[in-house]
Amino acid sequence: MKFTYEEYQNLIEKLKKSEYSFANYYNWNAFSKCVILRHDIDYDIDKAVALALLEKNIGVHSTYFVLISSDFYNVFSRKIQEELQKIIDCGHEIGIHFDEVKYPEAEGNVERLSELIQNEAHILGQALGRKINVVSMHRPSKGVLDSNLQIPGMINSYCQTFFKEFKYLSDSRRQWREPVDEIITSNEYDKIHLLTHAFWYNDEECNIHDSISQFINGGNNFRFKCLLENITDLESIMSRDEIK
Ligand SMILES: [Zn+2]
Repeated sequence: MKFTYEEYQNLIEKLKKSEYSFANYYNWNAFSKCVILRHDIDYDIDKAVALALLEKNIGVHSTYFVLISSDFYNVFSRKIQEELQKIIDCGHEIGIHFDEVKYPEAEGNVERLSELIQNEAHILGQALGRKINVVSMHRPSKGVLDSNLQIPGMINSYCQTFFKEFKYLSDSRRQWREPVDEIITSNEYDKIHLLTHAFWYNDEECNIHDSISQFINGGNNFRFKCLLENITDLESIMSRDEIK
């Protein structure tokens, strides 16, 4: 499968044709055959907004998981909050994307991890003015996956239900490990949990090198724009032409 918006749309059409209902982490039990669409926002909110709008246009809803410990975006910045609000306005759910690596002292301590997840959900909730009820893990360790973490008042998208009872399909590292199209059309599974990363999708097919390169090099323009708002007369110090 190509990593284009057109192909993503085709994937959704295949799910519709195979009569999967589009469910979320709360209501899936009401359907005999369903898919939960999930997106983890590891690096780039703009890409997530583009996919959120596409999904709205084709009439499906999903859950976008936000990484508040990201080095690439800050959920308390006005720009990022406006972008996340666009995702919410499309009718999508927001969850917390949790990186356990940030808390080495909690390794193996499920109660502490549960507290830390609730704390991050609370912080994200404050930033967005809404309650955050669902969590996904960023690059989860085997220990966290095996622990089937129960978090009071929250849904763990990596709990046994969504990770084992559902057919879990992911495009992590821009690669489907299984033939996603065939699995959908085979009708072999009544429940599918589909993780896609908006980061990899473009109008035209773009290989992994070019996707990464565009993101890294595009960051220079973004930094310049941010500094323009903060340093008076920036262009007398450094011209735009100097941006590589
Ligand atoms: Zn992640």
